[in-house]
Amino acid sequence: MLRALIVCLLGCLATTLAVAQQQTTQLIKINGSIYMAETSSNVYVVTTPEGNVVIDTAPAKVAPEVRKVLAEKVHGPVKYIILTHGHADHIGGIDLWKEPGTQIIAQRNYVEFLNYVKRLEGFFAPRNAAAFRRSAEQTGAWPGNFAAKIDPTILFDEKYEFTLGGVKFELFSTPGETPDHLTVWIPAYKVAFMGDNYAGVGMPEPMSFPNMYAIRGTKPRWALDWIKSIDTVLALKPEILLNGHGDAMTGNAEITRRLTRYRDAMQYVHDEVVKGMDDGKDVFTLMQEIKLLKQYNLSEVFGKVSWSVRGIYDGYAGWFDANPSSMYPLPPSSVYPDLVKLAGGPEPIVRLALEKVADGKQVEALHLTDVVLTSDPKNAAALKVRIQALESLEKDCENVVEDGWLTYGITKAKKDLSTNEAK
Ligand SMILES: [Zn+2]
Repeated sequence: MLRALIVCLLGCLATTLAVAQQQTTQLIKINGSIYMAETSSNVYVVTTPEGNVVIDTAPAKVAPEVRKVLAEKVHGPVKYIILTHGHADHIGGIDLWKEPGTQIIAQRNYVEFLNYVKRLEGFFAPRNAAAFRRSAEQTGAWPGNFAAKIDPTILFDEKYEFTLGGVKFELFSTPGETPDHLTVWIPAYKVAFMGDNYAGVGMPEPMSFPNMYAIRGTKPRWALDWIKSIDTVLALKPEILLNGHGDAMTGNAEITRRLTRYRDAMQYVHDEVVKGMDDGKDVFTLMQEIKLLKQYNLSEVFGKVSWSVRGIYDGYAGWFDANPSSMYPLPPSSVYPDLVKLAGGPEPIVRLALEKVADGKQVEALHLTDVVLTSDPKNAAALKVRIQALESLEKDCENVVEDGWLTYGITKAKKDLSTNEAK
């Protein structure tokens, strides 16, 4: 269940998630007015005497089923659709819910966020495919900088309020997992809808550290914004917390306990990075040094601390590492073929890589195979050691994203090996 939930969480940019297709929609009544369709990404309908408010719309693939399940219970016009953020698994069913006169609300950063995703779709497609273990979708030519389809009819900056059928809705800008995240607050029901800013709902303890930098390729997710957004939700004192994925959470004490721990862990990691930067430490040193304190009781099954450290560091500092060699377009790998020559051929380097694997130093072994494979991409001996190193890393891997990329690496190395041996 936990793994399924996390794979769903990972689907935030994936429009065609295999797991989404397998899932069937569960309909859950949260209270007398709120229904939740629980699937790979949750959809909520808040009913009022004057019509309904739909919060998020599911990925396109499951949206028709979700719509059907909800339609059996919920009647009346759809007056508003609120999008907690612009990830594809939350906006895929907009057209199924939209009626003449339906207002669609998003935070203003939604527009640039969607354009950014569209602008770079050719870049993201193979990375999403690798991360989500599926084949890459064909993308067309570069669509231009501002080619996304923008559905919202109402955009707001900090706060937006409306009342429908006597029920007041307050929407707050709460950037976090994406810059356009919003939180919906219904004071009458003491319920907060947080989108994907909290990924611990329904997770057994230990919950996971948040995914502050998604290595498939995203802008860094700004820690201080995210922390402030969690504070915004905590200040509302919700009794019910409803999220983009997973079950509902009830009881303010439990909600506060979990959100506070999540927030504090982020704050700790952020502050340790900044202290280290001010101390003149480089990013790799901090990736090795910064560990979560036990008191947070968080795993790294979803978000990985070392990647967040690098996301924060690079988010603040950009790409330059203060080494003059890095100012030029030639990477270190440009001299790898020379190193192979110096070693008298690939054999001693492959041998050393094997020793590293035996010694439990798999990452060093990978770097050594990089040296050989840069000059000879199909070198069978190097590929075999590489597969060993990757498989050994995968055996001990608890993070689902890391596991996806290790699988990708193993598959690619095996393919290179088999085309090599077929010759
Ligand atoms: Zn999501």
